[in-house]
Amino acid sequence: LVTEQGIAMNQQVVIAGAGPVGLWLAAELRLAGVLVTVLEPRPERDPRSKAITMHARTVEILASRGLEGAFLDEAVHIPSGHFGILDGRLDYSALETDFPFTLALLQARTEELFEEHAKAAGADIRRGHRVTGVTEAADSVTVHVEGPDGPYDEQALYVAGCDGTHSTVRGSAGIPYLGDDFTVLGFLGDVILDQPPAEKVFSQSGRDGVIMMVGLPNGQHRIVGIVPADVRTDWPGEMTLEELKANLKQVTGTDFGLHSPDWLSRYGNTSRQAERYTKGRVVLAGDAAHQHMPAGGVGMNAGIQDATNLGWKLAATVNGWAPEGLLDTYHDERHPVGVDLLEHTRAQTALISAFTPDGQELRSLFSKLIDEQPSLNLTLAERLSGLDVAYGGDAPDAHPLTGRRASNLGFADGGKSLFGLLRTGRYVLLDLRGGTGTPLSAPAGAAVAGAATAGAAFVTRTAALAGDYPAWADISAALIRPDGHVAWASQEDDPAKLAFAAQGALGRAGL
Ligand SMILES: Cc1cc2nc3c(=O)[nH]c(=O)nc-3n(C[C@H](O)[C@H](O)[C@H](O)COP(=O)(O)OP(=O)(O)OC[C@H]3O[C@@H](n4cnc5c(N)ncnc54)[C@H](O)[C@@H]3O)c2cc1C
Repeated sequence: LVTEQGIAMNQQVVIAGAGPVGLWLAAELRLAGVLVTVLEPRPERDPRSKAITMHARTVEILASRGLEGAFLDEAVHIPSGHFGILDGRLDYSALETDFPFTLALLQARTEELFEEHAKAAGADIRRGHRVTGVTEAADSVTVHVEGPDGPYDEQALYVAGCDGTHSTVRGSAGIPYLGDDFTVLGFLGDVILDQPPAEKVFSQSGRDGVIMMVGLPNGQHRIVGIVPADVRTDWPGEMTLEELKANLKQVTGTDFGLHSPDWLSRYGNTSRQAERYTKGRVVLAGDAAHQHMPAGGVGMNAGIQDATNLGWKLAATVNGWAPEGLLDTYHDERHPVGVDLLEHTRAQTALISAFTPDGQELRSLFSKLIDEQPSLNLTLAERLSGLDVAYGGDAPDAHPLTGRRASNLGFADGGKSLFGLLRTGRYVLLDLRGGTGTPLSAPAGAAVAGAATAGAAFVTRTAALAGDYPAWADISAALIRPDGHVAWASQEDDPAKLAFAAQGALGRAGL
């Protein structure tokens, strides 16, 4: 590969960080044929798992790439979630998805499965290589690296900072990380319990603190919580087993016979967001773009969803068929999702750390509302699960489905469902008129140009829907983006007008 200015490259995108987000982005880019190198300073995967909760939208994304099997098989399935560790639980079984639950799986295993997936797709993953800075030029970016044999440089068309909260890429690109430092700390222990609670998820709260416990697939329990002494802005030192036991007893009256900790830690409510997710040849995703209290188990999920939004856009840009400004829509679409993420995790922090008598009443009232108001319960479940994310429509008269994620639509002919079709990582044009009318196609000139350009082709499916999809009842055709969101949908029944509208949608997509 040689750029217009004659700079030689052996990859098109360098990704800093082999956490879940960097690995997922690498696989998404490889799906579209982009040459990718992932640089990761850790010689081995971190065995300590921050995240355990995987939400429905993330499982849908995995299913759109054919990767959900191991996650569904190995994880603990939990039909509910929590908001602010309130007693009133969010009912995930009410979600309209093939996966109406949360999965509990250790992040280290998620990373292992993602790494296998990225490697199988052809990503070059280098451990023991730390990115130390980036320098941009007009048509390339130089990534400075400290490797096992000393410093070296890599040239690429783009660099993706998936290097976590302290992102070197973000700092080197001069992107401000705006927000506030912690005012509340939480504690964490992965332990064995000799007298575990009967429930898969146990929580208890009161004026003396909040505790939540989840059974893990490896037989351990993850304990998280906050006690009033944790409302502080200074760092109290490392978490100890004695402190964990004392906190448990303080809140619940027992320590559940806990012993053999695998990991003891603290986390905080530092809430920050990158001012821009794209800047020139630098893009940010995951914790490099947003940091917040791990409340509701959403950070990794949001990061994987960032990478899913970014992957096909960056690939289309690198492969040369992206419409003008496509890459910037990554910032336009995902930055507001990050704003919402910080909003609800901050709100949850306020509830979790409300230890005063008045704060306890706030918790009690909110918990009752969640129990008594199914629509509030569902709204919060949709928000935490990521299923409510909708990106702006692409045309002034856009159908309300535009920008929403499409569920796993099934078809009357019994063939591949929508997630099966999305496995190619390409756009999917759905002609839902059941095989009647003139076939829909791309504008004549664009189709020829598109076919000649890597990745610009799209998959067409002509079949009527079979299944209960009320929002899709009158849809005659739709264009689904590679990330599973609706680019265009129409109820038009005039064949000529529908064909014209479909050509417009394909044209706007660069197809
Ligand atoms: C206690 C706790 C519990 C959590 N629970 C959940 C949960 O249940 N569900 C959920 O969705 N989220 C949860 N989260 C959040 C989740 O862990 C993070 O959002 C997730 O790890 C972000 O993934 P990432 O790939 O963006 O960043 P990271 O996981 O931080 O990975 C970044 C990678 O970049 C590497 N790196 C760092 N510097 C450089 C450099 N200079 N060059 C190259 N690479 C570099 C790091 O070594 C690391 O491997 C939790 C967080 C905490 C703290």
